[in-house]
Amino acid sequence: MSALLQVNANGLYCAVGAFYIDPWRPVPRAIVTHAHSDHAHWGCAAYLCSTPCQSVLRSRVGSDSNIEPRPYGESFDINGVRISLHPAGHILGSAQIRVESRGEVWVVSGDYKLEPDSTCTPFEPVRCHTFVTESTFGLPIYRWGAPSETAADMNAWWKSNQQSGKASVLFAYSLGKAQRVLAAIDPAIGPIFGHGAVEKLNRIYRETGIALPETHYAGSAPAATDWSRALILAPPSAHGSTWIRRFGTVSTAFASGWMRIRGTRRRRSIDRGFVVSDHADWPGLITAIDATGAECVLVTHGYRAPLVRWLCEHGRNAKALETRYDGERDEGTESETPEPDSPDPDPIPQVPA
Ligand SMILES: [Zn+2]
Ligand SMILES: [Zn+2]
Repeated sequence: MSALLQVNANGLYCAVGAFYIDPWRPVPRAIVTHAHSDHAHWGCAAYLCSTPCQSVLRSRVGSDSNIEPRPYGESFDINGVRISLHPAGHILGSAQIRVESRGEVWVVSGDYKLEPDSTCTPFEPVRCHTFVTESTFGLPIYRWGAPSETAADMNAWWKSNQQSGKASVLFAYSLGKAQRVLAAIDPAIGPIFGHGAVEKLNRIYRETGIALPETHYAGSAPAATDWSRALILAPPSAHGSTWIRRFGTVSTAFASGWMRIRGTRRRRSIDRGFVVSDHADWPGLITAIDATGAECVLVTHGYRAPLVRWLCEHGRNAKALETRYDGERDEGTESETPEPDSPDPDPIPQVPA
């Protein structure tokens, strides 16, 4: 008997239901866990995603795409396969995909985290026989601190830059991370500006009902703006670009799970690093896997081998699942290609690798 889901040349495929989950090539039918570019490939004939994912996905794969939204928790059938989407706690609209056929249940996690995040619905454990888990930070060294402490650190950094007359430029991936960081920022400290790529997603988040502090598009700020009081949110691709020059003397920071590793900040020549991740840390991965009660765990994305080894040593049937995204380039795997500094660019399809 072949497995309910199997990897083929296009990605993770359900032959019984004739659909893919997060395919890495254009396919006829894709169920998408979330809108990050390593999960939501452009050019599919039909997409299905969670209701809160819909607008973000549309902004990524093109406004004329065929996208069918489904609320979290609602069951439906595709070719006799029972499917439901459950919150993954990763970014707005992120979903785990539950697939059931002939009494066999698989859950594909997509990316997930267990930490509280006011910008998305919290992770929901779902019982299954086989759990396909991500492992972006699947090493025991990855342990995240309390989000409230990181928020306090970011606010203190901004205030101290104000006192020394420097603009605060905070790099964060434009989809998900920037909004989570923004939600943790104290808007009473000063004005908050966004790069166009960030502002575009801020707007979609607000339209979907997520409360965020007020921000202004940096590109339309008056020439006389006193940037030394401002916090500017920008995608990492803006680092080292001429776009930064308008702000005068700056202090730079990067919010990412990779900041947990010594040297990452220095290599990127960033003044300050804040450990903020939208992926599960090592204890989070183990907790989430335990909660599924799964007999079989398939590990994909990132550090697969160490997590597989640990699970096998602890009496589980675990295997690495083939992935196209070995050693993810960056957290959230947003590409490092510069994003247009306009909140209203035409959708730009990503060029396949
Ligand atoms: Zn992601
Ligand atoms: Zn990912």
